[in-house]
Amino acid sequence: MLSLNRVTAAPALPPGPRLPGRLTRNAQALLTMLTGRERPATAYDLYDELRSGGHNTGLTTIYRGLHSLAEAGAVHEFRIGDQSAYLVCPAEPHEHLICRVCGRVQQQHLYAASRWQAVAADVGFQVVEQRIEFYGRCDRCRR
Ligand SMILES: [Zn+2]
Ligand SMILES: [Zn+2]
Repeated sequence: MLSLNRVTAAPALPPGPRLPGRLTRNAQALLTMLTGRERPATAYDLYDELRSGGHNTGLTTIYRGLHSLAEAGAVHEFRIGDQSAYLVCPAEPHEHLICRVCGRVQQQHLYAASRWQAVAADVGFQVVEQRIEFYGRCDRCRR
């Protein structure tokens, strides 16, 4: 039986971009911009930052780069309002703890989540990707 009573949280996973060798220079530059952030960034966020830094980059180029980063599994996509936003995520399985107050996303591996794949396998379902998101208030916003 699946029990949610004993969910154990591991320490926060370090962010880890993957397959950097397969990325275009454009995607690599965007990955560098996204690394170390706690909140997902939209294409417009990156566009504004690049423009104010004197770079003449078009939105289409940014969209293309973000798309290839998502394809490579280096970032995860989030919906913020009607926009997509991107955050660098570790290669290891993890769940997202999303703060509704500050927008911070914490990546945690909740060991119970891996058992859900076993439950899916029991009904003959092959899991190829798992996304589990929790919404709430982070420890900083609860103070
Ligand atoms: Zn993620
Ligand atoms: Zn927060």
